[in-house]
Amino acid sequence: MAADVPDRHLAHLVASESNPSGGYSEYALQPLGVARPPHGKITVPVVCDVCGIPVECTVYSVDATRRLRWRWWLLAALCAVGAVVLAGAVGATFADHLPDRPATTPVAWFMVVGFMAVPGLAVLAFYRRRDARREDGLRVVARSGAHSLRPPGARFDSWYATEGGGE
Ligand SMILES: [Zn+2]
Repeated sequence: MAADVPDRHLAHLVASESNPSGGYSEYALQPLGVARPPHGKITVPVVCDVCGIPVECTVYSVDATRRLRWRWWLLAALCAVGAVVLAGAVGATFADHLPDRPATTPVAWFMVVGFMAVPGLAVLAFYRRRDARREDGLRVVARSGAHSLRPPGARFDSWYATEGGGE
């Protein structure tokens, strides 16, 4: 993943269209042309071939990228553990108060909020795990509408609405 020369390219959005049934985007891609630093990270302007605007990009070293990835894994683990612990606490509280002992208001709130927070934490864990897998130590500093980072070869994005029509 974290090769010496960054893999993802600078992408300039050249065309985009969408309608109720779907859409597509087309990008012009160019290699960043920035070597990874031996330590830490560097931020350099990469001049876009399409519009000539210097786009500030941050490139992390191999070690720093690994640390970023571990940070995502750690967050994912904390969210997953939090979901399990909270589910257990809500379940135990629920069992404690049913059927004949009504919960006090704060306890009832804890059960309701906790019950809703468990899937939220699970979703967070899922996304942080995805972040960890995708982390390549590359960032566009000021995200404008036109510029982003994309894998080489990924010049097109298209999508189709799952529900037909829009009527
Ligand atoms: Zn551009």
